Amino acid sequence: MDTHTIKQSNDLLALAERAGAKFHKAGKGFSSHCPIHGGDNPNAFSVYVGDDGYQHFKCFTRSECNRHGSNVIAFVMALENCDFKKACELLGSDASSMGISPRHTEPPAPLTYEPPADIWQARAMQLIDRAQAALWDTRGSKALAWLHARGLHDETIRAARLGYIPQSFSEKPETWGTPNDNPEPLYIHKGILIPGIMAGKVWYLKIRIHNPSDPKDKYKGVRGNKTASLYFADFITANRAAVFCEGEFDALLLSQEVKDLTSVITLGSATNKLNLATWGIYLLRPSSFLIAYDTDEAGKHGGDDLSWLHDSRRLQVPTLRAGDNDLTDFHKSGGNLYSLIESAIRPEAPIFVNWRSDVKPVTIQGQYWQNPDNRIEAFYQPDELAQCLQTMQAIA
Ligand SMILES: [Zn+2]
Repeated sequence: MDTHTIKQSNDLLALAERAGAKFHKAGKGFSSHCPIHGGDNPNAFSVYVGDDGYQHFKCFTRSECNRHGSNVIAFVMALENCDFKKACELLGSDASSMGISPRHTEPPAPLTYEPPADIWQARAMQLIDRAQAALWDTRGSKALAWLHARGLHDETIRAARLGYIPQSFSEKPETWGTPNDNPEPLYIHKGILIPGIMAGKVWYLKIRIHNPSDPKDKYKGVRGNKTASLYFADFITANRAAVFCEGEFDALLLSQEVKDLTSVITLGSATNKLNLATWGIYLLRPSSFLIAYDTDEAGKHGGDDLSWLHDSRRLQVPTLRAGDNDLTDFHKSGGNLYSLIESAIRPEAPIFVNWRSDVKPVTIQGQYWQNPDNRIEAFYQPDELAQCLQTMQAIA
């Protein structure tokens, strides 16, 4: 389709029709041959439009195309085989025309992915206040020490409104507006509370629990959470790189360390999906993306899922000590996060990085490793050099 035909379409059904789909009613939705890959199976492609405005398209021909998504942007990306930014251009929208400014307090309209209801918001804010109070008195001393050990400063912890829930408890679901129409008691776990506050609303509450019998069981939500959200969306700065972290704690630490060098954002986990209809517009602001997920399988797959972002690259976080897995480990092992990110967002920069703050410059094979403008010196330990070089080549 040409740009003119695509422009100004918010309706997935109409846009797919203009792309050649011939729909017939099928169940709760509409079916057609697939306008993306072609073919002549009249049931290959379906569009579902819910009463609440939710839209979804899917091509069922797994081997041929299998494209799917939940809004017109995803459809245009599939149709034109383009990235997110290009799709928005084709649709005639860009961040500036949507009037998004840094740290705005109202969500952009119209929202197709709504924050939890007002009653849920009110209850969530009460819980956040109580948990903050508990974190900063004697009840939270161990939790606070744990956060400090991750490298987080008091200022960072307060700004993020982290808190501590000293005892698990359950609540009547009505007090939270009976989320998901579930009449069962609503359970709040004991642990460190991470509020997902964006655009002036609480989108989710996440609790870092401690489960000795299953160390992998780390996070619990609260019923009614809207987790397909973009943590730190308010702090995205235009025309600057943004770093995608895997979770909130990494994001908090990184933003603390890099200050305004880049924006820092996260989906909260490697497997979490983002609702593009609401949050996609925020992703038009950064000039490029650096995906700094954990160095494990989940991190690899989660990072691959973000390959559609415009100008995105992976950052393999260097392993400074055995078992190191993420940005927080790198920091705790003495790595310099600011230098790491600064080098990674400048692909043309020489590969001289102060990886570690606690080791002296070294001479390797007769060369003194120093960058030409003396801006950053190389502080490698010899056995780390090969690894650092490999990492930087992977980045470049
Ligand atoms: Zn198809």
